[in-house]
Amino acid sequence: MSILEQAKKYRDYSARNLSEMIKVPGFSTTEKDRIELLKKMCREAGMEDIHTDGLGSLLGRVGKGKKVLVFDAHIDTVGIGDPTQWRNPPHSGLIKDGLVHGRGSSDQLGGAASMITAARILKEAAYAGDFTVWFAFTVIEEDCDGLCWKHLIEEEGFKLDFAVSTEPTSCRLYRGHRGRMEIQIDIKGISAHGSAPERGESAAYKAARAALAIESLNARLKPDDDGFLGKGTIVVSQIKVQGPSQCAVPDQAMLYCDRRLTWGENDSIAIKQVEEALAAAGVDKFTVKMPEYAQPAYTGKLYRQELYFPTWKIPADHALVVAGVEAYSGLYGAAPLVDKWTFSTNCVAICGRHKIPCIGFGPGDESQAHAPNEINRIDDLEKASAFYAALPYSLEKKA
Ligand SMILES: [Zn+2]
Repeated sequence: MSILEQAKKYRDYSARNLSEMIKVPGFSTTEKDRIELLKKMCREAGMEDIHTDGLGSLLGRVGKGKKVLVFDAHIDTVGIGDPTQWRNPPHSGLIKDGLVHGRGSSDQLGGAASMITAARILKEAAYAGDFTVWFAFTVIEEDCDGLCWKHLIEEEGFKLDFAVSTEPTSCRLYRGHRGRMEIQIDIKGISAHGSAPERGESAAYKAARAALAIESLNARLKPDDDGFLGKGTIVVSQIKVQGPSQCAVPDQAMLYCDRRLTWGENDSIAIKQVEEALAAAGVDKFTVKMPEYAQPAYTGKLYRQELYFPTWKIPADHALVVAGVEAYSGLYGAAPLVDKWTFSTNCVAICGRHKIPCIGFGPGDESQAHAPNEINRIDDLEKASAFYAALPYSLEKKA
């Protein structure tokens, strides 16, 4: 039976697995029950060496070739938001009219379900090619993208040659996205009685000048040379001002910024730009820093990292992209659209930090992510499972 026929045969199996995953909630740092469910699914699909790492990410493999290809699905989801905006309960896992409904269906348990089916197809074909194909079901992505992979690579010594993120791409092939970072600006003033503001130095007015300086910095940011990723951005996402009383000149201010980084931009460039913009606007007594992520995983392990998620892309003629295009064309008779994500994925660690080539291919639409009434298409699950099963064969010819 061909890979396409297998994926079709397992269409309902893919949909059922996705539905079951949705029914067991798993938010960042509370993924334990969903990981237990996935363990069962991995066993049922015939994966070997099924195990979890220190942060609780689950791995299983098919094949034992010299090179390593990884399919990654983060299996945590964001919360449900306003429950009154959902037509069906957010964790219903309802299967109806060719769709699977519920939180995580597109972002990105659909990718996880298609991976399990692909493993089953490869196992039944007794795949014994050049690759060890690992299937990774990773944690804490929604709170801190890439942390799980930074941990696997830097702490657990996990080695890989290629990776595929199965975040939603509407079954297009993606080869990059902008990076991002969070920036905290702390500003000091001098408090004085509200009746005599001239005796103090207002942290509020400094914060206002700083915010306007960030606005004009955003307008000055340039796009990347080839225009693939577009322009970086910076936005003030929060301002807090405090002083000793409502009747005083405030002496402390904090501005929080979300910075999106295009090709050629990194954390030190972005921080320097902010420092220069504030100084040019006449703001003094300020510090600029990158905050840290520091929440323990469900396993209890605390693994910190600064809130920096490096930009990544690989060229359109890279062996992994070409193999992806050929795998898709071989199945469907036409090339997929090659593009990029708007949002951020675990590739920030795998490719952004560690320069291991990544592509993206996943069922469902990026626009469904974090939205109420999230759905995925069973057609997409079928398509993605066929693509994942075909990729190792195409990649063997290229790399
Ligand atoms: Zn996601």
